[in-house]
Amino acid sequence: MPALGKTLTYQATLLANPILAPIHPMKALTILCASLALAAGLFAADKVKEGSCCDKAQKAGKDCAHPCCVKAKAEGKVCEKCNK
Ligand SMILES: [Zn+2]
Ligand SMILES: [Zn+2]
Repeated sequence: MPALGKTLTYQATLLANPILAPIHPMKALTILCASLALAAGLFAADKVKEGSCCDKAQKAGKDCAHPCCVKAKAEGKVCEKCNK
């Protein structure tokens, strides 16, 4: 299978060469995750209502365990029911 061998060599070259692959896929993923977490954290920080269940959980260094809040967090939001 000369064609397959050529493709594999090409992919290996891409992964090994920092010029052809400026950002390693795993590195890009890590950067993306870090910036998303940071953005989510900043967003949640000014949306959580003082004294709410989520506020208390956040101050304890945890995520609020209420199902409604967990669901909202998964969507990148803050639970509106508990933080209005
Ligand atoms: Zn909550
Ligand atoms: Zn809630």
